Amino acid sequence: MNERFLIDDIPVELRRNKRRRTRIAMDIDPAGHVVLDVPQRTALCDVQALVREHGRWLRYRLNRVREETAHLGRMGYESGEVVLYLGEPLTLEHHAGDDVRLKGLVLRVPSGDSACTRKHVRTWYRQQAGSVFEAVLASYRHLPWLEGRLPPWRHRFMKSQWGSCSSKGAISLNTHLVRTPRRLIEYVTLHELCHLRHHNHSRRFHALMSTHMPDCAVRSKELGRCMSLLLDE
Ligand SMILES: [Zn+2]
Repeated sequence: MNERFLIDDIPVELRRNKRRRTRIAMDIDPAGHVVLDVPQRTALCDVQALVREHGRWLRYRLNRVREETAHLGRMGYESGEVVLYLGEPLTLEHHAGDDVRLKGLVLRVPSGDSACTRKHVRTWYRQQAGSVFEAVLASYRHLPWLEGRLPPWRHRFMKSQWGSCSSKGAISLNTHLVRTPRRLIEYVTLHELCHLRHHNHSRRFHALMSTHMPDCAVRSKELGRCMSLLLDE
C-alpha cells in the first residue's frame, strides 16, 4: 500500500521499494501529486527534508500539470463538472432519465456512479465523433489524389496518437479528438489524408499539407497543448 500525505501544501505519494538501495526517484503524477520512489527503510523525516528542499521546483511542476489537465481527465464525473466538446466546455448534469442529452452548454446524463457516467459520456463522444469526423472527411473529398473517394476509416479511443494511416491506406482517428476544436480535427484528418499521397513526413509531405492548410504549423502547436486529453483513456 502506498502512503499518501501532505508535506507543507505538497501532496506526496510514497512508494516503498524493496529493490531500491539508496537513491530516491522523484516524479510528478498527471493526477497532480508528487511520487517518491524510496528505499524500503527511508525515514519520514528524510522524505520531508527532501520535499522541502525541492519545494519550489515541485510546486512549479505541480502547477504546470494542474493547468494542463484542468477540467480534463481523471474526473469524478460528478454533476457540475466540465467536459469538453469541440473545444467548448459543457457542464455535466445528472438527471433521472436514461438518455444523454445536450441542452445548450449542459450535457445531461443518467444519474449513477462515476464509472457509469463515464461510460455514458464516452458513448456520447463516440456517437458525436462518428458524425463530426465523417463531415470533416467529406469536406476533403475534393483533394485531387482521392479521386472523389474517401478511404476506409474508423475512430477509437487511443492513448498515444491522434490518428494514423495504415500501409493499406486505412485511416484511424482518435475519438478523443471530438473534444478539441473542429480546426484541430481538420488538421489531423488532413494530415492522415496527405499520408495517402506520401507515406512519410518528408518535405514533400509537409509541402502538400501547407498547400491545403496554410496555417497547419499553428494548428499542430495547438494540438500539442491538448496532449493531456489522452490521459483520460
Ligand atoms: Zn503522420
